[in-house]
Amino acid sequence: MNAETVQRWLEGAAASLHEQRDYLTQLDAAIGDADHGTNMDRGFSAVVEKLHAADGPMPPGRLLTSAGGTLVSTVGGASGPLWGTALRRAGRALGDAEEFGSGELASALDAALDGVVELGAAQEGEKTMVDALAPAARTLRERVDGGAALADAVRAAFEAGEEGMRATVPMQASKGRASYLGERSIGHQDPGATSTALILGALARTVSTET
Ligand code: ADP
Ligand code: MG
Repeated sequence: MNAETVQRWLEGAAASLHEQRDYLTQLDAAIGDADHGTNMDRGFSAVVEKLHAADGPMPPGRLLTSAGGTLVSTVGGASGPLWGTALRRAGRALGDAEEFGSGELASALDAALDGVVELGAAQEGEKTMVDALAPAARTLRERVDGGAALADAVRAAFEAGEEGMRATVPMQASKGRASYLGERSIGHQDPGATSTALILGALARTVSTET
């Protein structure tokens, strides 16, 4: 994998978030303030615009770090700094290398998760994006360590993320805006876990065409 992989992933994520913008906003209307779709669409559109405006090629890690900065500066809601930190940490984990493999990808996803947990202090089970990201990072690491092919490992990580997303439905939120609802947050799927699954899905589609 290389800078082109990262670029195609970010473009795929932006397209998917744009397509699902109204759905994400509806989920946020139920347990938040109805802006999650708008937030993520605005942020990732700005990321793609900046990718295309960049002068000269950048290594994959730098692309991610820069995309993280764009998210922080363009998204007002909680998801901006959280995803911004995730991408910056992932970028820093990749460093300045021009190419990276499945082991580095697993480390980058671990670093992204660590960044989100450090900033937002949510553990699994609190009905946040961590409920999708943590099982995905864990599964990717397990599959890569077990010698799985890249595309299979990332697909399994995506599926674990989707399962984590669905598991947020019966949870009561204890972090973020949804926590203000207390028990009334139960029975709704978390918007941030849902957008996280979309972003992981874009990664799975991107690497499936590489191998
Ligand atoms: P806001 O809540 O500021 O309106 P968004 O609607 O864009 O921001 O994002 C809401 C999502 O952010 C939630 O669905 C949840 O997944 C995620 N989130 C909120 N707080 C936290 C946190 N402390 N840690 C991890 N994720 C969080
Ligand atoms: Mg919101």
